[in-house]
Amino acid sequence: METCNKCNRNPPVYFREYSGEKLCKRCFIESIDRKVQRTINKFSMIKFGDHVAVATSGGKDSLVLLSILNAVIDTARGITISAITIDEGISGYRDESLKIVSEFCSKLGVPLTILSYKELFGTQMDEAMKIRPSAKLTSCTICGTFRRRAIDIAAEQVGANVIATAHNLDDEIQTFMINLFAGDVNRMGWNQASSSYKTGCMKKIKPLADTYEREIVFYALQKEIPFQSEQCPYMNESIREEIREFLNRLEKAHPGIKYNSYKSAADISALVRGGNNHESVRGICENCGRDCAKQICSVCKIQENFKPLS
Ligand code: SF4
Ligand SMILES: [Zn+2]
Ligand SMILES: [Zn+2]
Repeated sequence: METCNKCNRNPPVYFREYSGEKLCKRCFIESIDRKVQRTINKFSMIKFGDHVAVATSGGKDSLVLLSILNAVIDTARGITISAITIDEGISGYRDESLKIVSEFCSKLGVPLTILSYKELFGTQMDEAMKIRPSAKLTSCTICGTFRRRAIDIAAEQVGANVIATAHNLDDEIQTFMINLFAGDVNRMGWNQASSSYKTGCMKKIKPLADTYEREIVFYALQKEIPFQSEQCPYMNESIREEIREFLNRLEKAHPGIKYNSYKSAADISALVRGGNNHESVRGICENCGRDCAKQICSVCKIQENFKPLS
């Protein structure tokens, strides 16, 4: 009988193409737990006394992240975890995930806070899609900008100083390529697994940044973590899906190519940050008073589109 390459005992259930390993269920799960722990240590993501708000959408990545952090974080060292969920107001899509997140958090004993675009910005996504001035203002631009702000506000409300998001290795390369194709070199410098502690700012960490999306799905299935299956009805407007399919095709033909491109993207991103003066020039939004790079922040700029004409 063929056996796992790690323990030489159990039958393999997973073939890790980029390393050639065949792993049994237990060794596969342990390999992901260890990988995430290594990423946390490598970037000194979490320290004694931190309160980590985990952005939990109900998708596989965020529930896997919550589950691993809840298991590996040592509460005896004064580290606290809270889950935060943002309701974008996308009917038929968000409803399913809110139920999954609530049940999963109760099972883990992690407190959950839910905030909605409607209560924070006065407009939910379904409405925004109807009243936006043109399709040039894409669904994911509106939604992504609102979500980043909503997560910040939710984390402030629960008293967190660190925000953990579930961006995986695939997400990171896709984002890098989106910015590359958009000619946005400044944003190419935003790709980092962890920001540093700064007074008055939330530290942002991505403990799954070194992990393939495919392996997160398999981990969720092996651990029977429930996750949302429904896809967002507005996702087709993004070039992200085309890049995702392109990268998956490349990875199939050349195992490990995603990991190499992730490393290149991280290195280029660090170079851009190092040579970028704009990052340090931060200001205050004239409209809402929050931290921003220009006079008016991106959230307020988007909201301008939804104001009735007087
Ligand atoms: S796919 Fe785009 S519109 Fe849909 S939830 Fe994600 S960011 Fe929002
Ligand atoms: Zn094994
Ligand atoms: Zn503003």
